[in-house]
Amino acid sequence: MRTLTVLGATGSVGASTLDLIRRNRDEWRVLALTAHSNTAELARLAREFGAELAVVANEAQLPALREALAGSGVEAAGGPAALVEAAARGADVTLAAIVGCAGLAPTMAAIEQGGVIALANKEALVSAGDVMTAAVERHGATLLPVDSEHNAIFQCLAGNDSAHVRWITLTASGGPFRDWSWERLCAATPAEAVRHPNWDMGAKISVDSATMFNKGLELIEAHHLFPVGLDRLRIIVHPQSVVHSMVEYRDGSTLAQLGPSDMRVPIASALAWPERMDTPCTPLDLAEIGELTFRRPDEERFPATRLAREAAMAGGAIPAVLNAANEIAVAAFLAGQISFTRIAAQVEDVLGSYAPPPPGCLSDVLEVDTEARARARVLMTSA
Ligand code: NAD
Ligand code: MG
Repeated sequence: MRTLTVLGATGSVGASTLDLIRRNRDEWRVLALTAHSNTAELARLAREFGAELAVVANEAQLPALREALAGSGVEAAGGPAALVEAAARGADVTLAAIVGCAGLAPTMAAIEQGGVIALANKEALVSAGDVMTAAVERHGATLLPVDSEHNAIFQCLAGNDSAHVRWITLTASGGPFRDWSWERLCAATPAEAVRHPNWDMGAKISVDSATMFNKGLELIEAHHLFPVGLDRLRIIVHPQSVVHSMVEYRDGSTLAQLGPSDMRVPIASALAWPERMDTPCTPLDLAEIGELTFRRPDEERFPATRLAREAAMAGGAIPAVLNAANEIAVAAFLAGQISFTRIAAQVEDVLGSYAPPPPGCLSDVLEVDTEARARARVLMTSA
């Protein structure tokens, strides 16, 4: 029996994770589940899985959570510090599935316990970068990528020396707007942006997928996860989302991981690692799919990958600035305050106005994140 904590249990990745646990109840014991404010769903999950602890990040919701858990024996807690405490209970496996830099502090707390961290929360790694990878090293934790591309690369690297890698190629679906003209992009609505053709995901990552910031964040994520230089990381657009990423070796061999567009596959790979487990996912039927196509990304219409590459090259705190500016811009777009194409423009403006020194610890990263958000808001109101 292994213990599991799910940070962000009520989200899309959280639900996929708990669906797998539901099918393997005798192998897992759930320690803690967390959510932002959906107390009804959190309480339902905590009862179903017999969790020890349920944490709602929005402290105002704690009375509602307590009420929903009355008589269940599940402990209830609220607020950001309680999130960190949940992560610090030291589960064997922590599924980090909070969206945004809000997941950073609890993810770091889980790392400090030295267990397995199955990481979906890419914004945390993008923001903290070396601070996080150094903590992983220091505490003997194991960081397993859940992001489908990185999980694919992790699988393609297994048993090979990364010194022999010529290219790591991240595939990108291109999102719902991949064939849209610039004029059409300027008028794209939030409802159109969250309607992803291949994946069913939370709103923020769906918008990131439409702007290609998702791939930009993933480029930075890959740079921290895998020991190859940025000059050996590239992106290719692959609309069918069947090839989840590839690794090309110096002898000309390319290894790819293929699978259905279902997050339960990479989540299962991380949960069972180094073993394998069954999933209920529809098996890949390549004859039915018929065609796999690939093309180069267009950085004119989608500047996000260029901005992310530049931020990764600058290193230090700059990726945290990029991430924070993007989080604010995406929230503003979803709230109808800025246009779709303003997202990247606004991120570029913030990057041009704020270049803090490299962070040395978690609180430095959080400070950069807070300041970059404040600047993004100011730039937005003055634009
Ligand atoms: P989601 O919006 O569906 O769920 C996010 C979860 O985080 C929810 O449980 C929510 O309650 C919680 N949360 C949100 N804000 C919070 C805050 N401020 N404090 C504490 N908890 C908070 O998001 P998702 O699509 O499941 O994505 C989660 C993470 O996984 C993101 O970083 C995303 O980039 C990554 N990811 C998602 C997918 C996918 O298919 N959905 C694929 C790859 C990577
Ligand atoms: Mg991904």
